[in-house]
Amino acid sequence: METIVAASSNKHKIKEIQAIMSKFGMEVIPKNEAGIPDFDVEEDGDTFEANSYKKASEMMKVLGKTTIADDSGLMVDYLGGAPGVYSARFAGEPCDDDKNNEKLLKLLEGVEEKDRKAKFVSVITMIFPDGETLVARGECPGRIIKVPVGENGFGYDPIFVPDGFDKSYAQLTDEEKNSISHRAKALEKLEALLKER
Ligand code: IMP
Repeated sequence: METIVAASSNKHKIKEIQAIMSKFGMEVIPKNEAGIPDFDVEEDGDTFEANSYKKASEMMKVLGKTTIADDSGLMVDYLGGAPGVYSARFAGEPCDDDKNNEKLLKLLEGVEEKDRKAKFVSVITMIFPDGETLVARGECPGRIIKVPVGENGFGYDPIFVPDGFDKSYAQLTDEEKNSISHRAKALEKLEALLKER
């Protein structure tokens, strides 16, 4: 089985990426298991693409092994696309999911359901030791609810209901989330790119 290193130590993300990549015979290991726990990249790009590329390429340069990076976030229409690339640190550093959710709900206080549209975006970059680079973007449209519900997942999962569902991301099973999520869609595109190589 081919081993690829994820430029992340977010357990939830790695689990989702691993569940999908194992279908292609690839084992995903987090960066801390690859021997570089303290490797951190400043995510200073204006786009998910820029940050995703930066994470994957800097990791590849250090390790010389095939690397995969996900840069993702939530874009809320009413807030002009915020928090976007700032999703992880929306309520400031250190990153805190509950505080991020509280801040977002406060900004949307009094906003009607029809104006609470949002989407999750994931950009996955895979870089091989010879420099070959594959980039895949996935999006999942939905809306922001008024009160957090559900225990699964991470981040903004408890306040995001994907289109076609009446449950939040945090109420979906892993299988359900992995069949419709922004990350799953990006990984499906990556699968197609891997097949074309
Ligand atoms: P990144 O590590 O810079 O890509 O930050 C991604 C941030 O976006 C996370 O810390 C979460 O706040 C949010 N996010 C990305 N994907 C998801 C998801 O699947 N569920 C909930 N929040 C997510």
